[in-house]
Amino acid sequence: MPSLEHAAHHSVWDEPTTPVPSDAPHPVVRLADHERCSGCGYSLMGFSTDAVCPECGLPIDLRRANYASWVELRARTVTPMDTWVATGAVALASGPLAILTAFWGSLQLGDPVGVFSAIGAAPTVEEVGKVVAPLMLIESRPWMFRSRKQIVGACLVSAFVFAAIENALYLQVYLSSPSPKVVLWRWTVCVALHVGCTAIASIGLCRLHREMLVARKRSRLEIAVPYLAAAILLHAAYNAFALILHFSGAL
Ligand SMILES: [Zn+2]
Repeated sequence: MPSLEHAAHHSVWDEPTTPVPSDAPHPVVRLADHERCSGCGYSLMGFSTDAVCPECGLPIDLRRANYASWVELRARTVTPMDTWVATGAVALASGPLAILTAFWGSLQLGDPVGVFSAIGAAPTVEEVGKVVAPLMLIESRPWMFRSRKQIVGACLVSAFVFAAIENALYLQVYLSSPSPKVVLWRWTVCVALHVGCTAIASIGLCRLHREMLVARKRSRLEIAVPYLAAAILLHAAYNAFALILHFSGAL
């Protein structure tokens, strides 16, 4: 039997290696008595290969499978525990990965405290960085999240870990002897900003996931974009406000 993966034909992350389904017609044959459905094991004796399994609806010839049957079949292979393990792994890895991304971004810009960086590039890189790992998982394996709770949870943990590492860097490395006011500001306002902005972005991820797993439609990343843009704008507005406070000497 051919692999089901061709039916995915979906991912923006693995486009170069995704095989394109062939348009060549698949010959129709009648199945012998030992053939069983690769999805549910139902006996397919007497059925022909252009039909679907009467038990689970999966195309008998997997070359005829579409995106919906790909999601359906893959979703059956994971247990709820698998989805929680994936959620935990993404939640913990995502924040440190976002820090590395932000570091790389500021090195590329060469001016990490410049005005352009603070209100343009930094909020963009940070807001995208905090959710890109869960977003990639949704886009390539939507069945690894079962619920909105898991997606929002993974995103919020990612944001909190990001904010905590950023605070440690600012307060221990970048700033020499920060005042208690600055320490308090970073652990309250900055953490709330990071977690709050990511909460907004995570709504977009939930909507995308719903469309892929419930409506069984191919990924359309643009569904998540308005929410991500709102998070970036809010973050940029905060950074502009913080710059004003900084230059006016209030903080
Ligand atoms: Zn079946």
